[in-house]
Amino acid sequence: MSSIIQLLPDHVANQIAAGEVVQRPASVVKELLENAVDAKATDIKLIIKDAGKSLVQVIDNGVGMSVTDARMCFERHATSKIRQAEDLFSLYTKGFRGEALASIAAIAHVEMKTRQEQEELGTHIIIEGSKFVSQDVAVLPRGTSFAVKNLFFNIPARRNFLKSETVEHRHIVDEFQRVALAHPNIHFTYYHNGGELFNLPPSNFRQRIVNILGGKTNEKLVPVKEETEIVSIAGFVTKPEFSKKNRGEQFFFVNDRFIKSGYLHHAIMAAYEGLLKDGCQPGYFLYLQVPPNTIDINIHPTKTEIKFDDEHALYAILRSAVKHSLGQFNVSPVLDFER
Ligand code: ADP
Ligand code: MG
Repeated sequence: MSSIIQLLPDHVANQIAAGEVVQRPASVVKELLENAVDAKATDIKLIIKDAGKSLVQVIDNGVGMSVTDARMCFERHATSKIRQAEDLFSLYTKGFRGEALASIAAIAHVEMKTRQEQEELGTHIIIEGSKFVSQDVAVLPRGTSFAVKNLFFNIPARRNFLKSETVEHRHIVDEFQRVALAHPNIHFTYYHNGGELFNLPPSNFRQRIVNILGGKTNEKLVPVKEETEIVSIAGFVTKPEFSKKNRGEQFFFVNDRFIKSGYLHHAIMAAYEGLLKDGCQPGYFLYLQVPPNTIDINIHPTKTEIKFDDEHALYAILRSAVKHSLGQFNVSPVLDFER
């Protein structure tokens, strides 16, 4: 009898995991921005070249890493954010799986620079396809910079599968906006091919929405507010007369994380019943805070879908809160403004 099962080497395991975590340059953007947020940065710069095909770089002024952590962060399942399984139910960080950096480093050329406040010197590491190329001591600003080049250099099928620059760039802008909308208190700047695309000073939710989507957005917003034991809701929906044929700007954030939910979307549509023209959709920017032990974020590596303990109650509360806000703003039924 001969045995044939073997453990995969780490770099192979990382490359396989990368297939799930990193679908396109925008996935790298998301992971790096979220790491910068978790590092308590107050200023985050995103630098992109050629829709991420040549460069995705994120520079933050967060807590930085020690020499040991600077090396350790590229290991699989290496995280400072949870220690034990129970911690999954008291999450306040974006990350917790400890696999983003290991995955990215497995399929790209990564240059990292990091320094902690109390250290005089920082660490400069180059890693390519999971192989450490160099590690130096360097004079660096406080915080961390990750530059990711040649994404999918060792997976040609993936690289060829990337869409046009316009499409890939749209995905990057989407990820950038999601993180920027979730954290209006952080200063975000975004440069594409050397040009400044966004410069978002620290502000509040309303101002951040307006800074991203343009000044005309302000008059369209109706505030929504609700406090219950299971959820607190804040944010805005758009007045029905500004609804659009396409889905437009629709955002749910749960505990400061952008999520997708067809079910909650339905609750909003129900609140607008009778107010929308045929086939039109409202915009919404809704920030839900729930006790972390009432949700499960660990359904998929990208963490954009989550499971709620009491989805039905959430639906009802959301629907009535939005309905109430629309009513308060004396929103007239469709027929009125069609005349
Ligand atoms: P996760 O975010 O799930 O913990 P990552 O692979 O994204 O996993 O990062 C691994 C670890 O590296 C993090 O837990 C954190 O300790 C550290 N790290 C990553 N990015 C930064 C950053 N920008 N600033 C400081 N520490 C970071
Ligand atoms: Mg992370």
